[in-house]
Amino acid sequence: MRDVMTRSAETPDPATTSTHPATPMTPVSSKSSKSSMPSSSRLTTQAGPIAAGVALLVLALLPLLPVPEFWITQANYIGMFSLVVLGLLVLTGVAGLTSFGQAAFVGLGAYTTALLSSRYGLSPWLGLVAGLMVTLVVALVLGWITLRMSGHYLPLATIAWALSLNYTIANLDVLGKYDGILGVPAIEFFGISLADGRSIYYLIWLCALLGALAVRHLLDSRPGRAIRALGGATVMAEAMGVSTFRYKVIVFLLAALLASVSGWLFAHVQRTVNPSPFGLRMGIEYLFMAVVGGVSQVWGAFVGAGVFKVIEDQLKELLPRLLGSNGNFEIIVLGVVLVLMLKYAPKGLWPAAQLLSARLWPAPAAHTRPLSAEESGIAPLPRRPQPERGMPLLRVDRLRKQFGGLVAVNDVSFTLHAGEIMGLIGPNGAGKSTTFNLISGVLSASSGHIELAGTPVNGWPSRRIARLGLSRTFQHVKMIPDMTVLENVALGGYLRGRSGTLRAMLRLDRAEERQLMAEAERQLRRIGMLHLADERAGNLALGPQRLMEIARALCSDPTLLLLDEPAAGLRLKEKQALAEVLRQLRQEGLSILLVEHDMDFVMGLTDRIVVMEFGTHLMEGTPEEVQASPAVRAAYLGTEH
Ligand code: ADP
Ligand code: MG
Repeated sequence: MRDVMTRSAETPDPATTSTHPATPMTPVSSKSSKSSMPSSSRLTTQAGPIAAGVALLVLALLPLLPVPEFWITQANYIGMFSLVVLGLLVLTGVAGLTSFGQAAFVGLGAYTTALLSSRYGLSPWLGLVAGLMVTLVVALVLGWITLRMSGHYLPLATIAWALSLNYTIANLDVLGKYDGILGVPAIEFFGISLADGRSIYYLIWLCALLGALAVRHLLDSRPGRAIRALGGATVMAEAMGVSTFRYKVIVFLLAALLASVSGWLFAHVQRTVNPSPFGLRMGIEYLFMAVVGGVSQVWGAFVGAGVFKVIEDQLKELLPRLLGSNGNFEIIVLGVVLVLMLKYAPKGLWPAAQLLSARLWPAPAAHTRPLSAEESGIAPLPRRPQPERGMPLLRVDRLRKQFGGLVAVNDVSFTLHAGEIMGLIGPNGAGKSTTFNLISGVLSASSGHIELAGTPVNGWPSRRIARLGLSRTFQHVKMIPDMTVLENVALGGYLRGRSGTLRAMLRLDRAEERQLMAEAERQLRRIGMLHLADERAGNLALGPQRLMEIARALCSDPTLLLLDEPAAGLRLKEKQALAEVLRQLRQEGLSILLVEHDMDFVMGLTDRIVVMEFGTHLMEGTPEEVQASPAVRAAYLGTEH
């Protein structure tokens, strides 16, 4: 499809030249100049493969070198901690769900395997499976109850169950009460006993690295984009068809299971378990590690766990000597460090480590974009049939919404026919956005009736309405600023994919993912923004952000598109180009309901217009009729002058 936006006509289309410039061609915002980090936020090591290779080599060789046993032990702990922190990184860093209770899940994994292997003589490998199952059940119950809580209640709830789980463990006779369980056997791996630190080292780090890889794969996938929306874009994600509660449960389970694996390793490293390493204090320390490492990057988990373990041990040695008395002084220092970090380096140490490594081993500057969808021959996603032109597609009947005493939408009725662009205009506060929210299920109506393609959708959540082919943009742009423009747009195609969490972690979702990305590219190109595909969405200026929202909505292959002030913040030429895109979409059979203040834009584009004032339906007619109406003129003059 031809680029219709003016900006891309001035610049070569990156899809045909195949290379993507390292810096965006257009100055997109003031924010981008402040950041010294590379603009792409894809979860890849920016430092390039060299740094990763060096790190892997060091890891692989460490136990073979004449390194003191102390450091092997340290490395083992760092590996086990990293597994827990990886889970927290997804749960807290990405999904925004703070948990102080991860140590309790470590405990479940550790106690299950300790009990089964020492008392009943079962293989530790069975202990692993059993531990994961116990954790799954407990986490499912706890998650089901606590994840519906909002704000500060969730972290408080995690503290509550962390304490009670620990207390339960410490008071069960079968678990040895406060003494715990002794004589836990070592893990055997094809006849090789992993009894000493150097041999279990490899198992620990294999688990940690596989965990990191799985998490990284997950975050860069269809379910991953939904998870990344949990942190602050749930309304938008729901409107794109995502069940956000389901994904909250999924990340909660994932974090619990990673912690459980860590506990399994821990039990067989220590060869004994007791309640103290699984208490609230350790839960807080895991969270500390996640914050120190940087809660939004996978490799930050290792940095966080490593820095924490080394510093804590040094402090434990140093502080009592300095202060001349015994005590857990290190916890005070760590607390102070945490507060300072949150204030001065809220993204943790990983970005700094990344910058350093990028300086040592500069990555190649330009990275190539794959060919565009048409050129690379990726099969397009199937499309839904468009309704027959002229049939009533959206019927709104005496729709009403009250906020306390304020009637924001007052018994409004209108019908939109398939293939039509309808305008919804009116002064500020007339109730247009609220009407959009009611139709799309973001808000539920106080009374009235909404029918979409013959289906009554009253009271449906927005994700269910989205399945019927309704997609929308928001008056105040809703996006995931840390994702690229392309990924944000691809979230719009959520309902057109199938891949779940497990497939994504195992990287079995690539064929579908390519289709989704190709579709996102197609929509970005249609809107003239393909050259910004790899830009961080948060770096865009307001105009392009709005266009990105339109591309995202189009990515869902809608039959009805709701656009709330799409032209606000656009320059004249961009507005003209947008109008051209919308005309083309109408040509293709799409129906559009449009709120817009720019009267030239509305009058030149719409087939019919509904005028609202103070929540009521003032009049309805063609653009000419509306322009000629004295009532409409009075409404606008009355409020705006
Ligand atoms: P418009 O989009 O036409 O400018 P809105 O639909 O945003 O108008 O708002 C209509 C009226 O409803 C306004 O008076 C606004 O203050 C009020 N309103 C909108 N959303 C809410 C809300 N969530 N809670 C309370 N009042 C609201
Ligand atoms: Mg509005």
